[in-house]
Amino acid sequence: AKRQGRNRYLFYREDMEGANLERLKLETELRKARDLGQLLLHYQPQVDSRSGAVVGAEALVRWHHPDFGMVPPFKWIDLAEELGIINEIGEWVLRRACSDLASLHEEGLPLPKVSVNVSALQFTESFVHLVDTVLKETGLPPEALELELTEGIMIGSQEGAVRIVEELKALGVRTSIDDFGTGYSSLSYLTRLVLDELKIDRSFVLGLASGERNAELVRGIIAMAKSLHLEIVVEGVESPGELAFFQREGADVIQGYLFSAPVPLEKLRPLLQPAYFE
Ligand code: C2E
Ligand code: CA
Ligand code: CA
Ligand code: CA
Repeated sequence: AKRQGRNRYLFYREDMEGANLERLKLETELRKARDLGQLLLHYQPQVDSRSGAVVGAEALVRWHHPDFGMVPPFKWIDLAEELGIINEIGEWVLRRACSDLASLHEEGLPLPKVSVNVSALQFTESFVHLVDTVLKETGLPPEALELELTEGIMIGSQEGAVRIVEELKALGVRTSIDDFGTGYSSLSYLTRLVLDELKIDRSFVLGLASGERNAELVRGIIAMAKSLHLEIVVEGVESPGELAFFQREGADVIQGYLFSAPVPLEKLRPLLQPAYFE
């Protein structure tokens, strides 16, 4: 039993060292990723629940490393935040998403807007300036840009966050609250922020399968969002049954594998017309 115990301890230590090494390697490589052109964007269509038209696309960042391959965001976004490089990465994402949509518009392709994820750490006064600059640089109309914020922006100075959202609104861009219901535990912030949209997180869609109480919870969220005049987007819809549920309950926009996974820009183009359904 003793020997087994010692072996276990050894295995444990090796695992720890392995994990630390892997993190260190990831860290070193991540610091260089943007400048080496290893970042790219994929786009996932957002579909009007009534007409089936593509009314937007969410830009999702990808990291393609020559040796590691595609490193999924859940493995490195938090790390980029810890390392303080999420600002540079976020700036790159914003610029690329705006210039991609501006080129689609130049080609005459009908995509009303692009949604960009914004880390809570990016959410400072200088971010407003950056958005203004990028819109001017790319010539994209402000209403064609939507910023997906998280509940995390309310963790620091609430007054600060409220003001930044108002300044973004004044620029004419749209704002959305992402991953709603998964983080910050107070709802009161919703009435303080002048948001346009609420995204129902995929975890609520998954919950539907396990019973009527979850369906009631989703109905409650939808009723609340409607009373606050927020557009309702549902993410992670995979099945026709889920689609039917959210159409019945009055959600405005649907995003999920049912329509398309996130795809590179050249694969987004053919998805933009015609509508997914009548
Ligand atoms: P998110 O903002 O909640 O994005 C939705 C995630 O759900 C995406 O994963 C998307 O590919 C996935 N998804 C969409 N539809 C379905 C579906 O029907 N089924 C399933 N199983 N999954 C679906 P992804 O691209 O891996 O991104 C994960 C997270 O990484 C994002 O979650 C977001 O929090 C973060 N992220 C991605 N791009 C950026 C970025 O540019 N900046 C920042 N700050 N975070 C980003
Ligand atoms: Ca949207
Ligand atoms: Ca998002
Ligand atoms: Ca989510």
